Amino acid sequence: MTPDSLIAGRARRASTEAIDAAAGRDAAAAGDAPALALDHVSHRFGDMLAVDDVSLAVGAGEIVCLVGPSGCGKSTLLRLAAGLEDLQSGAVSIAGRAVAGPRVSMPPEDRGIGLVFQDYALFPHLSVLDNVRFGLRDLRGAEQARRARSALAQVGMEGHAESFPHMLSGGQQQRVALARALAPRPRVLLLDEPFSGLDTRLRRQVRDDTLHVLQQQGAATVIVTHDPEEAMFLADRIALMNAGKLVQLGAPVDLYCRPVDAFAASFFGEVNRLETKVGGGEAATPVGRVPAPGIPDGSGAVVLIRPEALLLSPDPGDTAPVVARVEAARMLGRSSLVHLSVSGDAGNTVHMHARVPGQFLPEEGSWVSIALDGRQAFVFPA
Ligand code: ATP
Repeated sequence: MTPDSLIAGRARRASTEAIDAAAGRDAAAAGDAPALALDHVSHRFGDMLAVDDVSLAVGAGEIVCLVGPSGCGKSTLLRLAAGLEDLQSGAVSIAGRAVAGPRVSMPPEDRGIGLVFQDYALFPHLSVLDNVRFGLRDLRGAEQARRARSALAQVGMEGHAESFPHMLSGGQQQRVALARALAPRPRVLLLDEPFSGLDTRLRRQVRDDTLHVLQQQGAATVIVTHDPEEAMFLADRIALMNAGKLVQLGAPVDLYCRPVDAFAASFFGEVNRLETKVGGGEAATPVGRVPAPGIPDGSGAVVLIRPEALLLSPDPGDTAPVVARVEAARMLGRSSLVHLSVSGDAGNTVHMHARVPGQFLPEEGSWVSIALDGRQAFVFPA
């Protein structure tokens, strides 16, 4: 089913009054059930396991971002939640009511969900107001227009009600698509790469506005993005996927500061990667020792150190425990990136990157001392 036919189907089959009434009934039946629950969901395309036993519950008013590398199964999982893909294994429920599972397969337009896609999928021959009214067709004229205008006002587009989609910028079209999804007041909102058609500056602005709109709306929201920074900006919780599996689920601070494995640590930002051995319960690195709980002495380990964990001081003098030679230093805007050569135990030289807030541009060939912030250094079995 295409987004267009879904929207048309929703208008045909489900009045918004009915959705609201059903929401009230379901809320009573749902008790503490999450707004959206995916339970042991798996999905194959031929031999390829695109989604591998994923379980995820999203509460009312919560924003969960699905992130992961290209092809890891994010969009497929979202489409399974929406009913745009037939569920092969597992179950999906909305407010405690099964919408897909072994004996049930509710069409997308009956699930009480709002959808926003990367290409916005606006009807080109309808005005902005009529695009939003389309999903509210079963409301009476005056109430329908009032609700549509109120959704447009929510996204700051009330002044463009009579415009047609081709007269709008990409950012404005994105807002209209969001208004159309919000207008029927769905219990669950599913957004697939909603900002990827926008340039960097506009993207920041639109996603900031979108965050505030979503927070007011109170729907359970799942947003697919491949951009880790975007996920950290938007999400109450992040679901990190790789090769169809859910690798880690938690608050942004959990994924950034307590990654479960090397993949998770690397996904949210650059890391310095060092291979070493564990001794005395610690992994030795040229910039200091890092606790290695659970890894036996003598075993190989990978140490991942974020560039901001290397705390640099100029003019180290003779007493600094760890010194490094500056190979290059570049201002990146909010921070400076310093390329360093650090001497390893075996007489080798290790190249590392340090990121320092603001302007810190020591001369090439000068020496700096390094202290390690252990909270941003992670050890995993090799
Ligand atoms: P991206 O970030 O690039 O959009 P994704 O994480 O959303 O990727 P999916 O689109 O869910 O990934 O795709 C997961 C895997 O399933 C990929 O290998 C993809 O090629 C494959 N796939 C997706 N849809 C189909 C389809 N209709 N038929 C066959 N294979 C598919």
